[in-house]
Parts: sequence; structure tokens; C-alpha cells
Amino acid sequence: MDGAACSSGILPAEAWDTGASKEDQALARAICRAACPCLRQCRQYALGPSGVSVGGIAGGLSEGERQVIRRNRKQAAGGLPCIKRP
Ligand code: SF4
Repeated sequence: MDGAACSSGILPAEAWDTGASKEDQALARAICRAACPCLRQCRQYALGPSGVSVGGIAGGLSEGERQVIRRNRKQAAGGLPCIKRP
């Protein structure tokens, strides 16, 4: 994406990768959130069906955070479980 902070050289691009140290990922995440003009589009992509294959930090979120959001969305889309009355 044009203007993406992760390709600006502010931090090595590997900091956004799955194998980056926790410290690097924390920095990458902070940069996403504070300095990337593409945050919204990137997050939408990363949380969408195509973004499932994206690893590491994307859209200011870790893989784990994105999984939780996806799971919550699925549950919300499915509604609350029915409770059978006796
Ligand atoms: S929000 Fe997306 S495009 Fe922007 S720095 Fe983070 S990973 Fe890169």
C-alpha cells in the first residue's frame, strides 16, 4: 500500500513478520497504530477472508488478536445459541 509505514524503513520489515521478537512486534504494532495512514484499509484486509493467510502484525493487530476478532464476528453473525424451554 502506498505510504504504508511498514515499508518506510522506520523499522526493518521483518519486525512485522511472524518470527519477529516480541519487542519488535510490539514496536511494529505501535507504528501501525500511530503512524500508518493505511491502518484502516490494512486492518479490513487482514480481518477479511483473504487476510487469513497474513501472518505477524497487520493492521496494528497480532495474529492472535485477529483470530479473536474473527471468532467473535462469527459468533455474533450466528446469533446467540437457542435455549430450549422445557
Ligand atoms: S497498518 Fe498495515 S500497512 Fe500500515 S504499517 Fe501496519 S501492517 Fe503496514
